[in-house]
Order: sequence, then C-alpha cells, then structure tokens
Amino acid sequence: MPQRPYVIDELISAKAIAARIEALSRAIKTEFKDTDKLVVVGLLRGSFVFIADLVRELDLPVEVDFLEASSYGDGMESSREVRILKDIRGQIEGRDVLVVEDIIDTGFTLEHVLHLLQSRKPRKLRTIALLDKPTRRETGVKADWIGFEIPDEFVVGYGIDFAQRNRNLPFIGCVRFLAENEA
Ligand code: 5GP
Ligand code: MG
Ligand code: MG
Repeated sequence: MPQRPYVIDELISAKAIAARIEALSRAIKTEFKDTDKLVVVGLLRGSFVFIADLVRELDLPVEVDFLEASSYGDGMESSREVRILKDIRGQIEGRDVLVVEDIIDTGFTLEHVLHLLQSRKPRKLRTIALLDKPTRRETGVKADWIGFEIPDEFVVGYGIDFAQRNRNLPFIGCVRFLAENEA
C-alpha cells in the first residue's frame, strides 16, 4: 500500500530521553537492590532501543528476555485483541521481573501481558513504559514507572515504528501527514 507523504516533528529529544532514563534507573535500582538476578522482559519490537539503554544504566545483575505481543499490526489503531506471538524463554516463578514496554495506549497489551506473567507466580512484577498516552486508556492497567506522558499523537523513533520504518531515529517524533499541496 503506498504511504501518504509525511514528516516527523521532534517531540522528545535524544538528550531528554537519556536524562530521563538515568533518573528512572536510580528508582529501579532502589526497588531491586535485594534481587540477586533481575529478569528484564522487553516487549518486542518497539522497546528494543529503550531496553538497550535502560539495562546499561542498571548496574545490577540482569537477565534479558523478550516477549512479542501483537495488537497494532502495521496500522495506526489498536486492534484490542492481544495475541502472544513469541513467549519468553526463561522461567520466572519466584523471580523478580521488570516488564519494559514502549507505549501504553489503550492498555490492552500491557494488561494481557501482566496477567499472563502474573499467572507464572513471579516474586515481584514491576513495569516500566517509556511513553504513556493517559487520555487513550480503556483499561485500569498502570505502570510503576513512566518515562514521559504524551498527547494522543502517533509517534515514531527510538525503537518505535510506523509500518516498520523510523525505528532507528534517535529521538521520538510525531507523524504529520502532508496536505496535497505540501507534498
Ligand atoms: P495498547 O494495547 O496499550 O493500546 O497499545 C500498546 C501498543 O501499541 C504499544 O506498545 C505500541 O507498540 C503500540 N502503539 C501505541 N501508540 C503508538 C504510537 O503512537 N506509535 C506506534 N508506532 N505504536 C503505538
Ligand atoms: Mg509495544
Ligand atoms: Mg508497531
């Protein structure tokens, strides 16, 4: 499908993201200071850059695992129906787990994933999301730590895609479609 022309307006700079991750890491280190090995569960694919930066700020013993859930596909609207496309590899029973999400939008994805992981009886289950769109929420789910609250805009960059593009931008920006006379 041909994509309408668009530009990306910077919303959060690479520098602001790095500063926020440093602050969040301090809180996370305090929370898990008694953990012998933290299991960091990244939700693919949008959180891959965030996880990479976050775990390097956490001077704690960590194990990194990944789970892939689908709700958006390649579109711009949540499908509300969450499917697990790839489960984590490790056991989490009795372990301390940190789930790392890119964006909480309606909340259906995170709610589904937390429910699944909780059923495996971790000792402690905490959640961090880089971005939160609180005005979009349709569930009661809450993350323990949030990087930034953002308005109801479709964002890309820093791991987050639009139809599998723009994940490699170092900052977070909003997609703005161009009118015919601007394109
Ligand atoms: P939810 O289930 O909370 O509605 O949606 C969560 C997932 O939808 C996020 O983890 C993210 O992958 C995707 N999503 C939500 N908002 C955006 C957005 O603005 N841009 C992109 N690319 N994905 C989004
Ligand atoms: Mg996601
Ligand atoms: Mg996507």
